[in-house]
Amino acid sequence: MGELRRIGLLGGMSWESTALYYRLVNEDVRTRLGGFHSARLVLASVDFADVEAMQVAGDWEAAGALLAAEARGLEAAGAECVVLCTNTMHKVADAIEAAVDIPLLHLADVTAEAVRAAGLDRVALLGTRFTMEQPFYADRLRSHGIDVLVPEGDDLTLVHDVIYDELVLGVVREESREAYVDVVRRLVGRGAGGVVLGCTEIELLIGPEDVEVPVFATTALHARAAVDFALS
Ligand code: GLU
Repeated sequence: MGELRRIGLLGGMSWESTALYYRLVNEDVRTRLGGFHSARLVLASVDFADVEAMQVAGDWEAAGALLAAEARGLEAAGAECVVLCTNTMHKVADAIEAAVDIPLLHLADVTAEAVRAAGLDRVALLGTRFTMEQPFYADRLRSHGIDVLVPEGDDLTLVHDVIYDELVLGVVREESREAYVDVVRRLVGRGAGGVVLGCTEIELLIGPEDVEVPVFATTALHARAAVDFALS
C-alpha cells in the first residue's frame, strides 16, 4: 500500500465544523485502512471574526486574498489538495484555485455528485444567506443538472440567523432544530426531493432522522471526498 496523500484543510469557518472535518477524515481513514491508520493532513485555521467582518462588508476580494494566502501556506507545508471547510467561502474558490498548483476539492461538485448518485434532480439548499441567495453555489449545482430550491422570506432569514447566532458559536437548540424541520417540510411541499445541508455546521443541528427526504450533509460528503483523494 502506498503512502496516503496529504490533505490540506482550510478551516476555522467556523472551527465548530472544522473539528467535525478533522474527526470525520480520521474516522474514515481508520474504517477504510484499519489498524492504527489516520489521515495525513495539514490544517490552516483562520480567525473567523476576520472572515465574518469581510462577509458583512461585502469585501470578497479581501476574503479571497486572505484564503488564497492560507492555501499557499498549506501547499508550502506539503498539502496535496485544498479542502475549503465552508460552503459560503466557495464564493472565492477561484481566487484560491489561482493561488496554488494543487487541486481544490470543490464542495458544490462533491455535493452534486452525491445528489445525482441518489437519483435526484431537485433539492432544497439550506445555508447562509450568501449561499442561498447568490449564484456561486446554486449555479454550480445547477451545472450538474440539478434544480435548486431555497427557502423564502422569514424562512431564509431564520436559516441564516441560526447559523450565525447559534451554530458557529457552538449553540445547538431544540427549538432551532424544530424550526429547521418545518422549513424543510415547506421546501418538500414545493417539490424538493432531498435537502442539501449547505453550511458545514447544519449537520450539528439536523440529520437524516429529522426529515423524510434524503439529506446531503456537506461536511460528511466533503470529508469522504478528501479521503478518496488521499487514497487515490
Ligand atoms: N460554515 C458555514 C458554511 O459552510 C458558514 C460560515 C462561513 O461563513 O464560512 O457556509
